[in-house]
Amino acid sequence: MRKISEYLQTRRLYEKLKSPFIIEVVIVIFSSLIVFGFAQEHDAFEHLVELSREHEDWELDELFIVLMIVSLALLVIIFRHTQYLKNEIIRRREVEVEINKLAFYDSLTGLANRDLCNDRLEHTLAHAARLDSSVAVIFLDLDNFKEINDTFGHDYGDEMLKQVAYRLRAELRKEDTLARISGDEFFIILDSIHTPSSISILADRLLRQLAQPFSLKGQDAYIGLSIGIAMYPDDANCAKELVKVADIAMYHAKSEGKNTYRFFSSKLDQQAKNKLDIRTQLRRALENQEFSLVYQPVIDVASNRLKGAEALLRWNNKKLGMIPPDVFIPIAEETGLISDIGDWVLLQACKQNKNWQEAGFSAIVMSVNMSARQLGYDKYIDSVVECLRNSGLDAKYLELELTETTIMRDVDMAINRLDQLKSLGIKLAMDDFGTGYSSMSYLRKLKLNRLKIDRSFIRNIPYSKEDAITTKAIITLATNFNLKITAEGVETLEQLAFFQQTDCDSVQGYYFSRPVAPTEFKKFLLEPQFKRVRSH
Ligand SMILES: [Mg+2]
Repeated sequence: MRKISEYLQTRRLYEKLKSPFIIEVVIVIFSSLIVFGFAQEHDAFEHLVELSREHEDWELDELFIVLMIVSLALLVIIFRHTQYLKNEIIRRREVEVEINKLAFYDSLTGLANRDLCNDRLEHTLAHAARLDSSVAVIFLDLDNFKEINDTFGHDYGDEMLKQVAYRLRAELRKEDTLARISGDEFFIILDSIHTPSSISILADRLLRQLAQPFSLKGQDAYIGLSIGIAMYPDDANCAKELVKVADIAMYHAKSEGKNTYRFFSSKLDQQAKNKLDIRTQLRRALENQEFSLVYQPVIDVASNRLKGAEALLRWNNKKLGMIPPDVFIPIAEETGLISDIGDWVLLQACKQNKNWQEAGFSAIVMSVNMSARQLGYDKYIDSVVECLRNSGLDAKYLELELTETTIMRDVDMAINRLDQLKSLGIKLAMDDFGTGYSSMSYLRKLKLNRLKIDRSFIRNIPYSKEDAITTKAIITLATNFNLKITAEGVETLEQLAFFQQTDCDSVQGYYFSRPVAPTEFKKFLLEPQFKRVRSH
């Protein structure tokens, strides 16, 4: 009701603005008539004509004087009207903006209101239908907001809603729509393609943002958030239905104990729950010492001797058991935990290598995988330097493995940081080579030491002619670029024999050993010469 009366008031103001324009015109015409009449009444024209006769050089006649007065009046009218129209346009625009605001925006938070939200959702769905893409919507409801109003009063409640709106907005991109659709209910439309996992990360971020205390006029207040997520076209294929199922999902979240999120689709919900579980456990994995490293020997092709080791991360969680790296590494990257985990891996691997050297074994190169995200962190180079210092390992015994994605995200930044790593004396290897899209010109710029051919090329060697040709071509290319080659995933004698006939300098894979714990790895250090095998 308040909104309607505000709207009507503005409408009346808008109507009022029209009348001064007409009044102005009437006043100017009326004044001109009075002046003209007054001049006639007092024979002003004759006086002026007489005056002009007395002064021969004036040469004024009656008609000229009349024209002069009329022109002056017209000029005044035009000037006044131009000014008036200018002000009028400005005022009308302001009023239109105001009307628009009242009609489509929430006056408290400045967010889109329910009407605008519905309108945008219709548009977004129509657009998605044309492009055959998907849309995600998020229904948010504050938990126990009534308590805030009851405890602190409505002013404080309003203040909190404003702060909530601000925090939610900060987590979204410009193109996403955030609306306040009623008292303590908000709605988000994510109009570009989102995967369920990226939506669950966003939901998690929104929950975290709102979990921080709110400062209500000096006092700390807390609020929870229940989130329901629905996807177009999987969960519903029209706006009304989509809002409804998102609302249902939100009620599921409420009934699950609040301050959480639920997908409408039970399949996505299960996936999200698993991921959420992994994410929660992953946060505590470092402090609970659940990570360990295993090492896979890298063998020199020519001599069959141990020449290095690749450190591989393993995670054994009490609740979830062993979780494969290809499941938890992407989650660690999404959540930013990869930075701490990566630092831990690097330090452990360097310390291990240093320990082996101090124990008197011949020095080997330790390869450590660098995550695509790590290189992007500003402090990455510093943490590598610190790790080398803390472990006491000479940089030449460390090789960092990066993937093509690591570089392709931001080529210039990657080249710059890799140069810095190189200047520390660290070796650089391109991992999983052949699976990404790296350009040959970048390969030269990166100043790599080694390419590691992805196991997918090696799996069918020597039976797949195509794979054998591709692998040989990669080896020729790498040798021309002065790069060393490691073949990964060598599992059979035939595969080893294939590489013995090429310029590939080292191999690793189950044929020699699977990744093993440090104690087991010692046997390779004690006996670095592997049984010499040659096929004919
Ligand atoms: Mg690797």
